[in-house]
Amino acid sequence: MYPTLLTDPAKAAWIKSTAAELAAFGEEHRGELDIANRANKFPRELYRELGRLGYLGPLVPVDFGGLGGGVAEYTVISEEVGRHGLVSGQIAAQGQRWLLDWGTDEQKQQWLRGIATGEVVFSESISEKNAGSSFKAMKSTAVRDGGDWVITGSKTHINLGADSHVTLFYAMAPEGLTSFLVDMTLPGIRTHVTRAIGLRLIRTADVEFDAVRVPDAARLGPVGGGLQTFLSTFNISRLGNASELIGLGRRALELGLRYASERAVGEGVVTDFQGIKWMVADAWTALQAASLARDDAALAHERGEDIALRTTTAKRLAITAADQASEASFSLVGGHGLYVDTPYTDILNDIKVLKVAGGSTEIMRNFIAQRVLKDAGHEGLS
Ligand SMILES: Cc1cc2nc3c(=O)[nH]c(=O)nc-3n(C[C@H](O)[C@H](O)[C@H](O)COP(=O)(O)OP(=O)(O)OC[C@H]3O[C@@H](n4cnc5c(N)ncnc54)[C@H](O)[C@@H]3O)c2cc1C
Repeated sequence: MYPTLLTDPAKAAWIKSTAAELAAFGEEHRGELDIANRANKFPRELYRELGRLGYLGPLVPVDFGGLGGGVAEYTVISEEVGRHGLVSGQIAAQGQRWLLDWGTDEQKQQWLRGIATGEVVFSESISEKNAGSSFKAMKSTAVRDGGDWVITGSKTHINLGADSHVTLFYAMAPEGLTSFLVDMTLPGIRTHVTRAIGLRLIRTADVEFDAVRVPDAARLGPVGGGLQTFLSTFNISRLGNASELIGLGRRALELGLRYASERAVGEGVVTDFQGIKWMVADAWTALQAASLARDDAALAHERGEDIALRTTTAKRLAITAADQASEASFSLVGGHGLYVDTPYTDILNDIKVLKVAGGSTEIMRNFIAQRVLKDAGHEGLS
C-alpha cells in the first residue's frame, strides 16, 4: 500500500508497475510455487527469473546488474513478494548490503552481479543450536593457518543453506567474532535440508563446516569485526521482514474477503455481519499503521538518519498486523480455511516463521524498550 512512498510521483509510477508485474508473476506461476512450497523445494528457476526481471538486486548498482535502488524500492518488492507468495529475495538483499558495505573490490567482482541477478544463491550462516538470539554462545571457530583460515562449526536454521553457492559464515577468531564469504563447494562442507513450517520456498538447512580452509581474502570486514558486519544488515533485515509480513497480511485479508463476500450464510453473506466487519476494519487499520511506520523508516534511511528504532518499530507493528489479518482471514472463511495446504494455513505458517527469523518479537520489544528508556534517561535500569 505504501501510504507515504506513493506521495512521491517519481516512485509512484515504479511502485505501480512493480506491483502489477509481481502480481502477474504470482498468477502465472501459482501452481509451481505451491508445489515447491509444499514439497519443501527451492524453485531455482523461478528465483533466477525474478533475478532476470531485476527483483533480486534492489540495492546493487546498475553496473553490477542490480536495480540501483534504495531501501524504499526494496520494501516495495518485499511486500509484493509476501502478498503474492513468491520466492523471497531477503537473504540476497542482505548479502548485497554486506558486500556493498564491507566487500573488497575482488569480493564484489566475484559475487555481487551473480547475487543481484539470481545466478548466485547467497545464504547467511549465523545461528547455531545453542546460539540464536545471543552471539556470545557461538561455538564455531576460525583459526589461522599460514595465510589461510580454518573454520569449524555447525549452523542451524540456515535459509538456502543447502541451495546456496556462497554463504556468509560467522565464527569466533582469537580476536573475536569474524565473518567469511565461503564458496559452498569447498571440501569439508556438509548440508542437511530441514523442514520449517513456513517460508519453505527458501527452505532451511543445517550447515556443517569441518576444518574448511579459506584464504584470508575470503574474510569480510575486519578480524574481530563480526558484530559490525552483522549490524550493517540489521535494518535491511527488519524492513524486509516487516514488508513481507505486511504483504502476507494483505494477502490473507484479500483472499478472505473475496471468499466471504460471496459466501451465503442465512439471509446474506459473511461480510454482512457487523462482528466480521469490525475484524476487517481492525486488521486493515493495523496494516495501515505498520505500512506507515515501514515507509517512515525507509524514507529516513534514504535521508541517512539513524533508523534502528524506526525499523524495529516497523517490524513490531507488522507482526501484530499480520497476525491480526491472518486471524481475520480464518473468521472470514470458517472451516474452508482450516485444512493443510490452503493459502490461509500457508500464510499463517509464513507469518509464524517471520516472527522469529531475523530477530524474534521479544528481541524487537527489548530493543524498543532499551531505546525508549535510554531516551528517557533511564539507561541501565532495563
Ligand atoms: C525458519 C527459520 C529461518 C531462519 N533463517 C536463518 C538464517 O538464514 N540464518 C541464520 O543464521 N539464522 C536463521 N534463523 C535463526 C533465527 O535467527 C533464530 O531462530 C532467532 O534468532 C532466535 O534464536 P533461537 O531460535 O535460538 O531462540 P533463542 O535465542 O533460544 O530464544 C528462545 C526464545 O526466547 C526468547 N528470548 C531470547 N532472548 C530473549 C531476551 N533477552 N528477552 C526475552 N526473550 C528472549 C526468544 O524470543 C525465543 O522466543 C532462522 C530461524 C527460523 C525458524
